[in-house]
Amino acid sequence: MIKIKKDKLWKNTIKIAKRKIPFYIIPQSIDDIVTVIKKAESENKRIKAVGSGHSFSDVALPKEYLVNLKKINKALKLPSFLRDTNQLLVHVEAGMTIQKFNKIMDKKEGLCITNMGGIDEQTLAGAISTGTHGTGMDLPSLPGLVRSILLVTIGGKKLRIEPENGISDPNKHDEKDVELKQNDQLFYSALVNLGCFGIVYSYILGMERMYYLKESKECFKWKDIKPKLEDRSLFYEADGKTPIRGVMVQVNPYKNEEKGDNTVIVVKHRILKGKPKRNLNDRKRNWLSTIFGNPPLAPLSIRFIRKKLLNKPEKLPRLLDQSLRSLKDSSYENKGYKVLYQGIEYVKVRAYDSEFAFDISGDKNNYIVAIEKMFQRAEENKQKGIYQSSPMGIRFVDKSPAYLSPEFGKKVAYIDVPFVLGTPKSDDFLMEYQEIMTKEGGIPHWGKINTILNGKPELIRKYYPELAKWEEVFRDLNRNQTFSNDFSDRLNLGFISIDQKEPLII
Ligand SMILES: Cc1cc2nc3c(=O)[nH]c(=O)nc-3n(C[C@H](O)[C@H](O)[C@H](O)COP(=O)(O)OP(=O)(O)OC[C@H]3O[C@@H](n4cnc5c(N)ncnc54)[C@H](O)[C@@H]3O)c2cc1C
Repeated sequence: MIKIKKDKLWKNTIKIAKRKIPFYIIPQSIDDIVTVIKKAESENKRIKAVGSGHSFSDVALPKEYLVNLKKINKALKLPSFLRDTNQLLVHVEAGMTIQKFNKIMDKKEGLCITNMGGIDEQTLAGAISTGTHGTGMDLPSLPGLVRSILLVTIGGKKLRIEPENGISDPNKHDEKDVELKQNDQLFYSALVNLGCFGIVYSYILGMERMYYLKESKECFKWKDIKPKLEDRSLFYEADGKTPIRGVMVQVNPYKNEEKGDNTVIVVKHRILKGKPKRNLNDRKRNWLSTIFGNPPLAPLSIRFIRKKLLNKPEKLPRLLDQSLRSLKDSSYENKGYKVLYQGIEYVKVRAYDSEFAFDISGDKNNYIVAIEKMFQRAEENKQKGIYQSSPMGIRFVDKSPAYLSPEFGKKVAYIDVPFVLGTPKSDDFLMEYQEIMTKEGGIPHWGKINTILNGKPELIRKYYPELAKWEEVFRDLNRNQTFSNDFSDRLNLGFISIDQKEPLII
């Protein structure tokens, strides 16, 4: 018997998306997931899986049945029906947090995740389903790690989904009640599925042996970094040939009052050969930012920023400069996943952001145009007493084969514009930034604030050349709209490519 809690309030971390949910379920097994999907279907009700609720948009907001996968979080044995491959593979339940995943991979397997976002509280399924990314021009976002998906879908059917010639040997496949589907359209649709195809129970992921990274954070002026972004030399070591694994840029949208240029911090991750011999300085990140970015002192930082926001907003540009400079750090060396984790989770979940991906294939650099237009807008708004309350981030990601990934088929630069919650007029300001980024060809992250998409199906059609294939899968696995929600209704997902004029359901 599955326990069903009634009328329980669910909210995402920043409490923008929230609702009292009639039926709240925490399944303990795949069979529970099958049962609850069948039950919702028989009652003609909607059902949605949620992860850690770390999406700022309402992409995860359920309506009738909520399935919280926090107990579906174990490491599994690799199945015996896999083909011989030289890949390092692991098999895990989809509700595991990235934090737990990284610990298990390190302690039990000696393996490390190739790349991840700046925090690790998300679940694997939640992060993969919205295309969560980190930074690294030649590194994939999270969907790029997936080799096999076990999805429970319409009718409680269990599908093992892989690309053609996937890792399972069809002649050996012997999973009870599971149909093996090795089909490119299905696989590349199911990677970034926005929870619309059913409930992912588990993944088989490709991993790397444990590796080490060295991170350095250095301050510059925007005018000195911009040419290096334009000619891409920022992504190479001093020899001009060796690519740097990960580069991230954080920039103050406001000019420094004394020096007259926007301050930038550039974060670089270089691979270390073998385990480093670390001195004291290499072992920790900059102590000031660590102390004030994490509990117990982080609440003070947030209170301080909010006080400034309300009482002396004109001090914000200088505060942003100070906060960027406080991140400076000559060297932090550690296991890969520990360096990829940027932390400051406490502060970050008290902020929200929009994030847009820009094509950087060939010599395209529209993202630089967009960022400079946003600097200009920040200055204009400053004159009206309206301020941005956090530095902007720029990260770089390799192309993805996932149909609904913003980096489908092209390398991209992501621009991320966060605001501390409670910043006056931040919704309007964020919309202005979304408009600027859209005009320059940016594509919004599904899990961040993407209100620009509302009522604009033509944008989604333009962004995703394989949308029609994704929507075909949507209309097959979600034909009764069981796995839809307000978000997918509002964007008319499933029907944009066939030009249906009216949203199907509400
Ligand atoms: C502080 C903070 C930092 C962040 N940093 C980054 C970053 O560095 N890079 C980046 O790209 N993003 C980042 N994000 C965004 C975040 O990674 C994504 O929004 C991610 O989807 C959140 O994962 P979650 O587990 O909380 O999933 P949720 O938000 O709960 O759900 C996301 C989607 O996944 C679906 N889903 C969840 N579980 C399943 C399942 N088992 N089966 C099917 N569908 C499922 C839900 O239905 C929903 O559509 C950040 C967010 C926060 C709050």
